[in-house]
Amino acid sequence: MRQMWRDAENFCEFVRTIPANGDVDKLYDFYGDREKLPKCFSAEDQVKNLFIAAMTWVYFHEIGHLMQEHGYIRARYGSGNAQGANEVHDCESNAENQLTGTAAVVSHVTELAADFEATNFYLMELIRHIINPDFVAEEKKGEISCGLVYLMLCGLSIVFFRFNGSMPLVPSAVPQGSHPNPMIRLEINIPHVFEILDIKGIRELTGHGLDRKQLVLLCGKAVFTATLYWSMTKTAEKKFDNRFMVRGLLTNPVVLEYLVPIVKCWDEILPEIKKIRRFGSPLGLLTFTDEFRERITKKEIWGEGPESRKS
Ligand SMILES: [Zn+2]
Repeated sequence: MRQMWRDAENFCEFVRTIPANGDVDKLYDFYGDREKLPKCFSAEDQVKNLFIAAMTWVYFHEIGHLMQEHGYIRARYGSGNAQGANEVHDCESNAENQLTGTAAVVSHVTELAADFEATNFYLMELIRHIINPDFVAEEKKGEISCGLVYLMLCGLSIVFFRFNGSMPLVPSAVPQGSHPNPMIRLEINIPHVFEILDIKGIRELTGHGLDRKQLVLLCGKAVFTATLYWSMTKTAEKKFDNRFMVRGLLTNPVVLEYLVPIVKCWDEILPEIKKIRRFGSPLGLLTFTDEFRERITKKEIWGEGPESRKS
């Protein structure tokens, strides 16, 4: 937790010191403007809100594991070749917990399922906060919603990088270890965020006023900024590497290959999870649409430009 607070402070500091009109600053033109932290918050509140958003999401992720009884699911479906596969540890995926085969697939699937619950919970809570006039004035709703979503995605990206520990950042086609690669987690969680924000009712409640393209760009910019921070300050090379750009889930052949056993495994365990899941909206259950499945099996490359996904 202390580390996450430091990350929030360091991240905001890093972003504020990006030189204006330099090469990095110019990369932001892709997103339509060069604003890197939401102006509706003071410098202090930017750090605080990022920290709280990240912590809340992590807390919801843990609730997601508990709600769906992932300890039991891992023991039943995935314990084949690894001791301890039925325990859920999130703080760092490392080489010591090098799960392989079915145990790795089940572990990854349950992580993605907990992510999905967490993102859903987070957005529902965010909306509850936004629509309460005691917290947010009506005319500020839209701007604050966008600011909080942006900071949440910055925080979430940093959490994924931090938890990835010493594991490589570039995705591999074979599920290995306990946790999915951070880039893959982002590529699944980002569309989940903008899909929810794009729902008509949610749009009205939050008053965010962004069209779909603007939503995709807002989410993409947050993740890009966090990736910039991480690659320029935490990697051995200390420079931005465009392999860390989130380009959209269905544009990377390695990710497509990775997803084949993941989707198959989720289909196998989903009926059991539906039976034992303790509470929660059906929207919290990880879902792969038919269109999405078709793309994975055909392994075609689709989607244009960063962060686009149409499922
Ligand atoms: Zn987890």
